[in-house]
Amino acid sequence: MATGGGNRNGVHKSPNLRTSASFKSKLPTSNVRRSAAAAADSVSGRVRVAVRLRPRNTEELVADADFADCVDLQPELKRLKLRKNNWDSDTFEFDEVLTEFASQKRVYEVVAKPVVESVLEGYNGTVMAYGQTGTGKTYTLGRLGDEDTSARGIMVRAMEDILANISPEIDSISVSFLQLYMESIQDLLNPANDNISIVEDQKTGDVSLPGATVWEIRDQQSFIQLLRLGEAHRIAANTKLNTESSRSHALLMVQVKKSVVDRDEFSLEAQNRSIGNLRPPMLRKGKLIVVDLAGSERIHKSGSEGHMLEEAKSINLSLSALGKCINALAENSPHVPVRDSKLTRLLKDSFGGTSRTSLVVTIGPSPRHRAETASTIMFGQRAMKVENMLKIKEEFDYKSLAKRLEMEIDKLMAENERQEKVYENEIERIRLEAQKRVAEAERNYVEALEEEKTKCQMDYMESIKKLEEKWTTNQQKHAINGEINNGARNEEVAELKKLLQDEVCLRKAAEDEIHNLKSQLFRFSKLELAGGNSDSFNLQQVLEEESCQKKKLEEEVRVLRSQLAQMSIEANQTRSYPDGSNSGNPLLGLDSLAPLNHMRSRDGNNGDRASITNLHEQVGLQKILSLLESEDANVRIHAVKVVANLAAEEGNQEKIVEAGGLTSLLMLLRTYEDETIRRIAAGAIANLAMNEANQELIMAQGGICLLAITATDAEDPQTLRMVAGAIANLCGNDKLQMRLRSEGGIKALLGMVRCRHPDVLSQVARGIANFAKCESRASTQGSRHGRSLLIDDGALPWIVQNANSEASLIRRHVELALCHLAQHEVNAKDMISGGALWELVRISRDCSREDIRALARRTLTSSSTFQSELRRLRIEV
Ligand code: ADP
Ligand code: MG
Repeated sequence: MATGGGNRNGVHKSPNLRTSASFKSKLPTSNVRRSAAAAADSVSGRVRVAVRLRPRNTEELVADADFADCVDLQPELKRLKLRKNNWDSDTFEFDEVLTEFASQKRVYEVVAKPVVESVLEGYNGTVMAYGQTGTGKTYTLGRLGDEDTSARGIMVRAMEDILANISPEIDSISVSFLQLYMESIQDLLNPANDNISIVEDQKTGDVSLPGATVWEIRDQQSFIQLLRLGEAHRIAANTKLNTESSRSHALLMVQVKKSVVDRDEFSLEAQNRSIGNLRPPMLRKGKLIVVDLAGSERIHKSGSEGHMLEEAKSINLSLSALGKCINALAENSPHVPVRDSKLTRLLKDSFGGTSRTSLVVTIGPSPRHRAETASTIMFGQRAMKVENMLKIKEEFDYKSLAKRLEMEIDKLMAENERQEKVYENEIERIRLEAQKRVAEAERNYVEALEEEKTKCQMDYMESIKKLEEKWTTNQQKHAINGEINNGARNEEVAELKKLLQDEVCLRKAAEDEIHNLKSQLFRFSKLELAGGNSDSFNLQQVLEEESCQKKKLEEEVRVLRSQLAQMSIEANQTRSYPDGSNSGNPLLGLDSLAPLNHMRSRDGNNGDRASITNLHEQVGLQKILSLLESEDANVRIHAVKVVANLAAEEGNQEKIVEAGGLTSLLMLLRTYEDETIRRIAAGAIANLAMNEANQELIMAQGGICLLAITATDAEDPQTLRMVAGAIANLCGNDKLQMRLRSEGGIKALLGMVRCRHPDVLSQVARGIANFAKCESRASTQGSRHGRSLLIDDGALPWIVQNANSEASLIRRHVELALCHLAQHEVNAKDMISGGALWELVRISRDCSREDIRALARRTLTSSSTFQSELRRLRIEV
């Protein structure tokens, strides 16, 4: 029993208490993240003791009215004075001194709150009330505060705090409510369960009650319900002191499992990070035990009897065992009789164990119970000396890790499924899109094809139509030509036949006349012989005249016969070439470089030529030429054809000219009336113009003017071709250059290019080439100076234009002309500006004829003007 020394002892033995500003211990909160291994580290934690004084109750207010309280509290000094008598008292120091005015809230905060906080951090915690029956243990711990919430006791407030500090979805609270009565543990949540055994873990020494009912607490309501139920089951026995007090020990066990929550664990980032993180979360297991001990009063004072006495002994067994243990612990005794009672076994961890323990000793003010009060105070004082080693109960929460991983797997599976679906949808979308595009492309393609097909069909139809039209026109033309030719020939033949008949008749008549005259002469001779000589002379004269007449007639008949023969040949010819392809074109197939030898070029004409020669021999050239001036157009046509054919023979040309044929032919050109005549006459002139002597004659007789007029007038390509041929031949004569040009020969030649017929163009090109060649020759010989007359007359553009003509004949003439022109420096500038240089370069490179190619190259290299231009243009020849 503590005395004044005890008082001193209390003060001295707990120097740290003085300095401690509050009851709350300074627990290292940084332990939150400690590993399980580190959790083995422990912190010392002394049992904290508060003393609470109950206010006087009604009875005391009356009975002790004249007495002072047995205690005097100095809460600010955390001291309690226990009166010994009126002048002496013992002073005790506690961790907290709570007066009769201390509110339930304050009591909770100083006594229980630090323990509850520790439990939430993973420590075991014990809050215990010790004191005489009726001093307010149950009031302090177990009040529900139904009517007055400020009256709520430690149990209710502790649960409120716990609930406020956990996460219901991941943390758990489980509660058992038991009572220890006469060394038997009963389940207050299930009274049938009345002898629960204590199980101790051999390894850890942990004590547990596997048989006790465990309630999972989700909210305050369910906890209140639980307390109410437990209270209802609690055996309460009345004692003299207080009919409401219980003689049993009540134990509320609250197991709190709390995950160590990373503050940002619920953030998206942390969740992402946690995927694949196999570190199990930390789980803290704190156990709070709230013990409402049975009254600590001495038996003899309780007034208990019989069974009640046994009961009181049992209650005291546990209590005295607790006292003994505390004494042993306080004195650092090597033996602590924990196993002496069930209470000490159950509270093994609370005193001298790892728990944070807080004891509230309740006392009453009555001096009548001074001894009990003193005993209670001493119990508290001893308990204050008990040092516990607080240990955090922290372990890896593999269960929750498994649960979390399972959740993650589920989440990932769901995500995977979702992604798969998205992927499938995307594939489907792309497939549809591709299908759409392919279909569209196909449609476009088909449309384009259709369009192209239609276009091709239309083009095809168009060409067919054109060809048909052409064919029809040709047919018609041929038909008309054939008809005209045949008709004309037939008419001619008929006419000739008629003429012949007439002539024959005339001859007959003449013969008859002769015969008649002869017989008259004979008669006259007879008469003469008989009569006179003058009549006979007259008759002889007449006879001679008649004879002459006859000869003439015979000549004419011969001519007519030969004409008839000619006509017959031509008629046959027409019949054998019904397409007219050769009929109107005596110069067809003519090689432009060769003389215009149409007659010779036609194999089938041997017979005709023979007949013409024959005719010519029979009739005589003079007579044929005279027929050119016949008044009869048909005769003129036939005659000009005959002359043209004759002129094709080189041997005849001189004779024709001598006989004045050239003049007559030129006349025919001048007195133009018929395209055929003009065409054939031009052809004949062209043939004659092959001969150098004739060329001069043609010029002398103003032939170039006539040819120039015809070149301007005529439209028929064949006529133009003949005229061009004639002029081309004249162009080749060195002596005629100036005159040919001055009389418009060059201009006439160039004028004919309006007719695009290749035969005409070819003759024009030949003429130009001939002319250029003569000029070149004259310049080389020094008889000519100055720029080419061809360039003067504007031939260069046409030359350049046709230098690369598709018709090889034209191209060759033009190429030659260019080479000739280029040989004279004086032409170079014009040729460069007219684009002829390019053509010359091309000729020097590409011309198919080696000699022309060489000539062009030579020409280019020999001209300094060309050379400098080529250098300027950086062109290599
Ligand atoms: P115990 O449980 O220690 O036997 P109780 O808690 O039953 O004591 O209290 C006995 C009586 O005293 C009850 O009627 C209770 O209401 C009253 N009482 C106890 N402590 C106080 C207090 N601090 N303030 C007011 N009344 C109290
Ligand atoms: Mg009680």
